[in-house]
Amino acid sequence: MSLTAVQQAEAKFLLPTYDRNPILLERGEGVYLFDASGRSYLDFLSGIGVNALGYSHPAILKALMDQAVRLIHISNLFFHPAQSQLAKLLTRISGLDRAFFCNSGTEAFEAALKLSRAYAQAKNSNGGRPKWRFLAMENSFHGRTFGSLATTSTKKYRRPFAPLMPGVSFVRFNDVDDLKSKFDDNVCALCLEPVQGEGGIRAVSKKFLQAARSLTRKHGALLIADEIQCGLGRTGKYFAYQHCGITPDIVTVAKPLAAGLPLGAVLTTEAVSRCIHPGMHGTTFGGGPLACSVAIAFLETLEREKLLPHITEAGSYFKDQLIALQERHPSITDVRGLGLMLGVELASADLAKAVVRALLNEGIIINRTHETVLRFLPPYIVQKKEIDRVVKALDGAISETSASAVTPAARHSKESA
Ligand code: PLP
Repeated sequence: MSLTAVQQAEAKFLLPTYDRNPILLERGEGVYLFDASGRSYLDFLSGIGVNALGYSHPAILKALMDQAVRLIHISNLFFHPAQSQLAKLLTRISGLDRAFFCNSGTEAFEAALKLSRAYAQAKNSNGGRPKWRFLAMENSFHGRTFGSLATTSTKKYRRPFAPLMPGVSFVRFNDVDDLKSKFDDNVCALCLEPVQGEGGIRAVSKKFLQAARSLTRKHGALLIADEIQCGLGRTGKYFAYQHCGITPDIVTVAKPLAAGLPLGAVLTTEAVSRCIHPGMHGTTFGGGPLACSVAIAFLETLEREKLLPHITEAGSYFKDQLIALQERHPSITDVRGLGLMLGVELASADLAKAVVRALLNEGIIINRTHETVLRFLPPYIVQKKEIDRVVKALDGAISETSASAVTPAARHSKESA
């Protein structure tokens, strides 16, 4: 099928939820994607943080094939060995005790919200008074289902679906005084992304996360870390909260967990898990043998290929190059992020849009988040030569787009000067 035929069919049969690039992708290998005409694209977005081992990684393909011929799905009415094996690996790396598996980020986050309410009810720690408020962050993104949306601050996602779940207050990210002023004993949980992704690649400060940890303890509330985008190695540690020396009560993961198959998980403590009984929560597909087996292969590969130190090294090399670029381009207003989760803020949304387009024309995939921020989420296996290529292309694209962004009037006055 040609690109045009696919575009026409989608325009007729799909809900118009996505604004896709006019590229028909066919296959992938390593850090490259290939379109139907055989053109290659260097992928510095990884399917928005999913394809952390790139494409066609042999360990992932082997796990996929081995399991697919034996069992794909069985329902959660029966046992298979992969769910508890995966839970054991995830609890070891997170410092938590138990896992529940689902199919996506937003479902993991819904489970986190439900656990928080159930825990508050079961403990009755506010002496019979209500304890169901959530605190969430300004600029947050937790997903598109109703609970996740209610704790997501961006108005354009919320407004069309109002009214949302009540009882959520938003706190200025990294503002300890604002956090203190909004906390009380009615709060059942505080939600945050240790590195905000859709909010423009902003890392939580150690001071704020530690204050969040101690305030949640003081008020008998749970601390939920949404690691769906920043977790599972992306920042050079298994979890981004590990940069701040705390452990949350609940952690959500998804995106890279099963290397491209849909799988999410919520991880929590023994104490929280005691409020859950059979039948209270569940899912048809979550934690199936295929997705869990691939996820085990993903985590084993991270360890076997020593990818965490590689992410730290490649990430700091990349960030240094971006900072050097900032010194040459006044239109770069900030460079931020951790590990291989980096953002470059540009002076305007139009400029950011033009740079993303220019890179795509050069065969490089990145995207724009929070309007003005170029987002880089390359596969963990990325090498310096690929980083160099992206930085060089960025240098050229920013020079060209900044020059062509000069208005005709400004150009005229420049020329006549
Ligand atoms: N939480 C965070 C931090 C995310 O970045 C995302 C997706 O981008 C989600 C939750 C929702 O995940 P999903 O799209 O798999 O539902």
